[in-house]
Amino acid sequence: MNLRRFIVEFVEEFIRDKLQDLGLKLRTKPLVGFASTNNYLFKTIKNIHPWIAYPKELLPQAKTVIVIAVPITKEAIDDNARSPGVSKLWARVYVILNKILEGLGKELTNKLRFRGFRSIAINPPHEFDHELLRSKWSHRHAAFVAGLGTFGLHKLIIAEIGAAVRLSTIITEIYIEPNSLPDKELCLAKREEKCSTCIERCKVSALTNWDAYGETCMLDLLQKNAEYLMRAFGIYADIYGKCVTNVPCSFQAP
Ligand code: SF4
Repeated sequence: MNLRRFIVEFVEEFIRDKLQDLGLKLRTKPLVGFASTNNYLFKTIKNIHPWIAYPKELLPQAKTVIVIAVPITKEAIDDNARSPGVSKLWARVYVILNKILEGLGKELTNKLRFRGFRSIAINPPHEFDHELLRSKWSHRHAAFVAGLGTFGLHKLIIAEIGAAVRLSTIITEIYIEPNSLPDKELCLAKREEKCSTCIERCKVSALTNWDAYGETCMLDLLQKNAEYLMRAFGIYADIYGKCVTNVPCSFQAP
């Protein structure tokens, strides 16, 4: 079996089995995208966001960046779409998928190392500087380079399986043929069709003016939600997710 197929099948089986064990339904298969570490887009990203690492800063001999997009369950999306505040099910599934992706990263990198290729996993929630509000790695940007989707007005990736996904990354020394970029914008507004639903769903206007209200979203809203989720349900998750639920790009690229 070639390595690309091995990785895709391993990811699909791992996610399916773990969700099944927890009694959760996979709404569609996860996606796996591949990017060359030499792709010029990593340089473009660095020029715009100098704090984001090049893949080779994290693994010097790396050849490929693998990005995995796992669909958030239909039930969690519907629940967060309906509930006035952040939903408990949305938070629960968020935490579960993060854990599953962490386990997947560990197992897959071990398998690749066993075949002689050094590999590192970057888990979904990773080192985040809460003062500067930035991370050393951006799964969203890596997902774009790996051909998994395009950016929506909500600043998240819209994949073929929608924007309600969790992302994680593996950087490896194996060379795998990269994906090409999508041949069109997947956000309705970006291809000049009428849509601003995600903007209207944001209760702190962060998507209308990120420079003015981005901090309110990251520091105030998400922090308050984290405190509420911990107090009410004992779940730690600084999330909201309204901009990817009850929007045309929740379940698939519109
Ligand atoms: S809700 Fe509409 S405008 Fe916002 S990202 Fe999705 S398609 Fe684009």
